[in-house]
Amino acid sequence: MLSKTIEDAINAQVNAEFWSAYLYLSMAQNFEADGKSGIANWFKVQFKEEQAHAEIFMNYINQRGGRVILQPIEAVETEWATPLDAFKATLVHEQKVTAMINNLYAMAEAEHDYATREMLNWFISEQVEEEESAQQLIDKFTLIGNDGMGIYMLDQELAARVYNVPSPLATAE
Ligand code: MG
Repeated sequence: MLSKTIEDAINAQVNAEFWSAYLYLSMAQNFEADGKSGIANWFKVQFKEEQAHAEIFMNYINQRGGRVILQPIEAVETEWATPLDAFKATLVHEQKVTAMINNLYAMAEAEHDYATREMLNWFISEQVEEEESAQQLIDKFTLIGNDGMGIYMLDQELAARVYNVPSPLATAE
């Protein structure tokens, strides 16, 4: 059984993951409108991943006899002038999510809730990847600057990204 404190904190995390999904979906729409469908694709995959993160947390709450409470999702920004701006915003956001996950981990440790700590381990590694991939794209877009050909090629590259079901969901079935 989850403590009320941990249950509330994971419910808050569910909301944060859906907010992340909404943010990346908004970025996808921004670039779709801007004719950069590869970048839009990258953010659509990101959108699906964030929904999966929320689902992992919801499954966990139910598994531990808790109750998932869905809260309203706050509005997100709708415009980013350049891909570089969007990937910079992505990194800042993911750093915030990492801090939230770390905070949850610390709460679980304080309560000797080892099952929650174990569940969070996957997210700890996932956040390392999230921050790394945002940073790599910041580096690439910084490198090409306003070069149209470079942006075109990078857009093609990002069109190839495909969504893979995260392992906690793949094994939970
Ligand atoms: Mg996430």
